[in-house]
Amino acid sequence: HFEIRQPRDLGRPFDGLILPGGESTVMRKLLHELRLYEPIRARICDGMPVFGTCAGLILLAKNIVGEQPHLGVMDITVRRNAYGSQLDSFSCRQLLPALGAEPLPLVFIRAPWIERVGEQTEILGEYAGHIIAARQGKLLATSFHPELTDSDAVYRYFLQL
Ligand code: GLN
Repeated sequence: HFEIRQPRDLGRPFDGLILPGGESTVMRKLLHELRLYEPIRARICDGMPVFGTCAGLILLAKNIVGEQPHLGVMDITVRRNAYGSQLDSFSCRQLLPALGAEPLPLVFIRAPWIERVGEQTEILGEYAGHIIAARQGKLLATSFHPELTDSDAVYRYFLQL
């Protein structure tokens, strides 16, 4: 794998993209300033598989409660900072049957949740009554951070896409 930080990085061949966590407002600003917004959005619309975690999920969403969308390619409505402030970050274990037979370790860092999914979007997981993972075609989104756990279940799922 390699990081895409500038438009010229898009010249290297790759099969899929992970949009990581962070701060979606800053990431949106940088996507525009670094001239990555248009080419990345075009590739997604061409069918490139994308996995968005947390802020990456927010970037993918067509609807963000109270805000304009960013990439706006996935038919979901997300609520930012849905669990509260940074201090309300938490981890837990939860069975997400679509992603495996064992409960998965989940890490939520000032995480969003998904309030609504469109007809083409499959719900892959819920925690305490809120949707935390979904898939639409080759777009995968989780409100938690699998890279901070020792489970590769979500990556395996993404690779199948
Ligand atoms: N709170 C961040 C946002 O709204 C997301 C946090 C994260 O990616 N861990 O963009």
